[in-house]
Amino acid sequence: MQHKELSRVLYKEIETSQADFHAFRYLPSESLCYTVPEHRRFLPANFKHMKGKTFMLSFFALTIFVFVASPTGAVSPIEGKVIALDAGHGGGETGAVGYCGETAALEADVNLAVRTLLKAQIDAAGGLGYEVAQLSSRSDRVADAERAGSDVLISIHHNGSLNTSTDYTQSFVTQKNDKAFAQYIHPSLVSALGLPDKGIKSDGYGMTVYGSLPGILTESYFITNIVAACDFLNYQIGATSTRVHIEAQAMYDGLVAYFSRSAGGKGGRPNR
Ligand SMILES: [Zn+2]
Repeated sequence: MQHKELSRVLYKEIETSQADFHAFRYLPSESLCYTVPEHRRFLPANFKHMKGKTFMLSFFALTIFVFVASPTGAVSPIEGKVIALDAGHGGGETGAVGYCGETAALEADVNLAVRTLLKAQIDAAGGLGYEVAQLSSRSDRVADAERAGSDVLISIHHNGSLNTSTDYTQSFVTQKNDKAFAQYIHPSLVSALGLPDKGIKSDGYGMTVYGSLPGILTESYFITNIVAACDFLNYQIGATSTRVHIEAQAMYDGLVAYFSRSAGGKGGRPNR
């Protein structure tokens, strides 16, 4: 580059930076800098501006943002609640068995998988997902849940049929307080899974028969359904949006709704 040309380029650059300097002085943010002396206004002084009102405004805005954006400010209605989670069967009992091709999907494994995810969510919200011991007697399981000081009980099951295309959502209750509780859990499962709704049935044989905890026995879907069985095998190899995930989330949402109602209308603990 010729010397003359270089000078011209340098001059051009100086002109440009002067123009930038000029433009900078009249930026809209100028109004935030009105207390800053003229000699501190150019770019190198920009940081120093933070010592003035700009800094105060930025700090104030950041404080508001953190307050609004932080989820830790809100107390979950789950906090302090003990939720008994019974994974149906286990202890050598498989429950219903579905097949994806030649590979078996055991109901007992699905029940445990849903319980694990649901417990993690409950515990993260400051509650306690109590894992009911997989005892052979239903009444002993309920007694175990009650000894733990549980507020409610969910007995997690999945249905079975010889027809591998059968699939729907159904829940079971026995006592009056079960029905009040189930009205929060069952509809949440139905809307999340999108399967036909066979409703909340009263029965006399599930875990809800025993004790006095508000409880529900859920049969969220049929593990004997081929789609469901294959979906569970996908869960086992690490898929992240399976029925297991959807079901656990739906139960959690139902619990939040139930305890929100209890906290608002009944002064804390639900009716027993
Ligand atoms: Zn079962």
